[in-house]
Amino acid sequence: MTKDNLGEFDLIRWIHQVAGQGRHLTLGIGDDCAVQPQVAGKDLLTSSDLLIEGVHFKREWTTFYDLGRKSAAVNISDIAAMGGTPQSLFLGVGRPKDIDDSDIKDFVSGFVAEAELHGAVLAGGDSCGSPGPLLISVTVQGQVNSGDAIYRSGASYGDAIYVSGTLGDSAVALRKLQQGEITEATFASRFHTPEPRVGLAEKLSRGGWATAMLDVSDGLLADLGHILEASGVGADIELERIPLSAPFRSELKLNSSLIDLALSGGEDYELVFTSPLKDLDRQTGFSPQITRIGVVSMEPGLRVMTAGGDLYRCGQKGFDHFG
Ligand code: ADP
Ligand code: MG
Repeated sequence: MTKDNLGEFDLIRWIHQVAGQGRHLTLGIGDDCAVQPQVAGKDLLTSSDLLIEGVHFKREWTTFYDLGRKSAAVNISDIAAMGGTPQSLFLGVGRPKDIDDSDIKDFVSGFVAEAELHGAVLAGGDSCGSPGPLLISVTVQGQVNSGDAIYRSGASYGDAIYVSGTLGDSAVALRKLQQGEITEATFASRFHTPEPRVGLAEKLSRGGWATAMLDVSDGLLADLGHILEASGVGADIELERIPLSAPFRSELKLNSSLIDLALSGGEDYELVFTSPLKDLDRQTGFSPQITRIGVVSMEPGLRVMTAGGDLYRCGQKGFDHFG
């Protein structure tokens, strides 16, 4: 049973207070719709995600505050993946009876804090009881200079392939959680509070440097595969170039098959993109750092090559998974 239950209207009043007002909005929470003026020369980006308890998260693995942060972050990451700037978030919550007001408040506080980190605001939503699991539905809107949105379909033969930050940490955390092991702090934070790469994405779109881009939510091979499929090209990537964190390298020394988690583990929320420029990774000023991992080829399929020139077969996904 719910220990304390504010009632829908009091809760919404509380949410309105913590959410604040977005400067880009004429009207946020409190009416039937949020109102945002249109800006000439900008395109509106909109994306939506559903998070279901037991499918996308487990309550016992996280805090409500971090769950709120992550729910906002993974949606903001979709705006980043298009090269845009996040602005408004809309939050639908289906709340089971055993979730207290304090849990919901922690959740919304985390959500609002993550939104603020990226200059976005909670601008509306809906709340109701759920007879089943906790349901979280998030819609995010953002904007990008007209014509600057970076699609999946723009990769061309000869483009270099880059990835931001490091890969695999989040998947290590998930594996340890599943096995009931203690997760090292770096892995845990990558899993519980991923950082959408908004600043980097804005830089890439304004510079016009990226031809195709997306965020790594399903794993590098799967997500890069989406770019290749949409662009009608193939790719060769070099195993030794996959960027790994220091803790990941330490784990890899104990278990070499972990490299497959860097290739196919999800939820890193790094950016993978293609560019005709071959030395972008040598330019300073990208945060996090970017690494060139391969090249777009005319031959269909996605091949992972070892330093010795052999084809590497990832244990979790075939090298030609969509071919
Ligand atoms: P309606 O009957 O039009 O759905 P509600 O009473 O559900 O209105 O919501 C009133 C206001 O509170 C609206 O502006 C709505 O966007 C906002 N709101 C409701 N639930 C949430 C939530 N979980 N997060 C943010 N805003 C919310
Ligand atoms: Mg409503």
